[in-house]
Amino acid sequence: MTFDDLGLTAALLRAVKTEGYSTPTPIQEQAIGHVLEGRDLLGVAQTGTGKTAAFALPILQRMGDNGGQPRARGRKARVLVLSPTRELATQIAESFSTYGRHTGLRQAVIYGGVSQNPQAKAVRDGVDILVATPGRLMDLMNQGLLTLGGIEILVIDEADRMFDMGFIRDIQKIVAKLPKKRQTLLFSATMPADIRQLADKILSNPVRVQIESKNAAADLVQQSVYFVEKRNKPALLKHFIERSGVTRALVFTRTKHGADKVAKHLSRAGIRALAIHGDKTQAARQRALVNFKSTSPPILVATDVAARGLDIDEVSHVVNYDLPNVAETYVHRIGRTGRAGATGIAVSFCDHDEREHLRNIEKLLRKKTPVCSDHPEYAAAKEPAAGGHSSAKPNRPSAPPQRKPHAAGPADDRHRSRRRKFGPGTAKAKPAGHTTMW
Ligand code: AMP
Repeated sequence: MTFDDLGLTAALLRAVKTEGYSTPTPIQEQAIGHVLEGRDLLGVAQTGTGKTAAFALPILQRMGDNGGQPRARGRKARVLVLSPTRELATQIAESFSTYGRHTGLRQAVIYGGVSQNPQAKAVRDGVDILVATPGRLMDLMNQGLLTLGGIEILVIDEADRMFDMGFIRDIQKIVAKLPKKRQTLLFSATMPADIRQLADKILSNPVRVQIESKNAAADLVQQSVYFVEKRNKPALLKHFIERSGVTRALVFTRTKHGADKVAKHLSRAGIRALAIHGDKTQAARQRALVNFKSTSPPILVATDVAARGLDIDEVSHVVNYDLPNVAETYVHRIGRTGRAGATGIAVSFCDHDEREHLRNIEKLLRKKTPVCSDHPEYAAAKEPAAGGHSSAKPNRPSAPPQRKPHAAGPADDRHRSRRRKFGPGTAKAKPAGHTTMW
């Protein structure tokens, strides 16, 4: 299937082409037609599957179709997209702006932690599409600075994250303020009972689309594990970064303090690194993100909350410096690489106390994680306690990790390898998500 087959207007096709998308991803194939028809939709899909375009493109088209509204100051928003985090909200708004560049529609993004004045002004000036985190949106509504009486389409993105982050009451209050007659789309990476209940309440006869990205991520990303003592993790990280052909790497730690410590350690070792977590100001987080997206990115050390929804192409390596105690979090983490069909590399540093976490991850993915054979003396070649791991080759032999010869490379050699692009066009490669309709 091509984008031309999906019934999109020339203006949108042109924008998609400019973005370099050649074929729709599975969720785009499945969702766009239904959203264009005005159907409600329940989508089970993660960030990284192309779901933003799956809702943004048909919404932009419907906004154009319904045209007629004056493009004048003070016009009311007709689309509301709710997002759990500021970063994701920003990225969604950027996507609307990118895909809608030939439509003349306007969007604004609303989130907390920064002055509300520019946001209130953008609303006053008139927007078609509002992308917002629930807290600040409620704030502005309570101050009478915006009303939602004109909303025709509501999108709730990453609904499970909204629940995790305690936004459910805000969402219910926001939904209560919207016109009853509207189109509603709800996306979630997982579908626990509370999301089903919310979906039953706010969706009307929805089309259901499920993208099994869990397996796609597990298959696309070449994973391996080092068994290492906690105290040796800093040295192992340096070793790994210097020898693995890293071009853009995200390192995950469990705590904010841990993220700061790891970033400091790397900087001291001569490797540029930045930490990103919830205690950083919004400006510092944005700066870190801009740096990370540049052609010469530092290593980004992040907590799970800070990394949620980050849309960054061409992440070559994900390092689980600490293993997460929730197996699904691992899947989210490794999904930062291997986006939209690209292959990626994820490596985990597993200390004695984290073996249980590793076993839970392997249970969820239904496969053993190969033990990294490129191990310095302080990392074990196999799980120290009888654990049944083999020193097998990673599960994607077609794309082995790039390793440097064992001798430590000089600093400039290291930087050259980090500057090397991940490979032209890999991030836009053919998506490999397995799709099912319920
Ligand atoms: P999302 O799941 O919306 O966060 O999208 C993940 C990434 O995939 C983004 O960087 C998009 O630019 C990219 N993307 C979306 N649709 C396509 C497509 N049809 N072909 C290639 N890349 C895409």
